[in-house]
Amino acid sequence: MPECLFCGIAVGDIPATIVSANSRTVAFRDINPQAPVHILVIPRVHHRNLADLGAAADGLLGDLVAHAREVAVAEGIVDSGYRVVFNTGPQAGQTVDHVHAHVLGGRPMSWPPG
Ligand code: AMP
Ligand code: ZN
Repeated sequence: MPECLFCGIAVGDIPATIVSANSRTVAFRDINPQAPVHILVIPRVHHRNLADLGAAADGLLGDLVAHAREVAVAEGIVDSGYRVVFNTGPQAGQTVDHVHAHVLGGRPMSWPPG
C-alpha cells in the first residue's frame, strides 16, 4: 500500500466515494464534509502542494481546476456559488501532503476564513 493516503485513493487501494475520474485527476467526497457539497479533486501523480504542482507547469494544474468546475456543474452549485480551496502548508491547515482542491458549496460561506 502506498505511503500517501491520496495516492492510495487514486490507485484504488484505499476506498473513497469517487464522484468522477479521468486519466489525470480524481474527485471524491471528503470524509469529514464542511458543507453540503464537499469534494476533493486530486491529480493522480503525487505533488506535495499547490506550489509544487504549479511549478511543474505541465498543464496538470489547469486539468485539476477544470475538473473542479465539472464537479461544481455536476453537483448543481455553479449558480448558487462555490468555493475552491487549496490549503497550502501548516499555517493554512494542510493535513494531507498530496495537493487537493476542496470544492465546497450548498450553503452560504463567510469571508474572511478563520
Ligand atoms: P487539508 O486539511 O486541506 O489537507 O484537507 C485534507 C482533507 O482530507 C480533510 O478535509 C479531510 O477530511 C480529508 N480526508 C482525510 N482522509 C480522507 C479520506 N480517507 N477520504 C476522504 N477525505 C479524507
Ligand atoms: Zn500522494
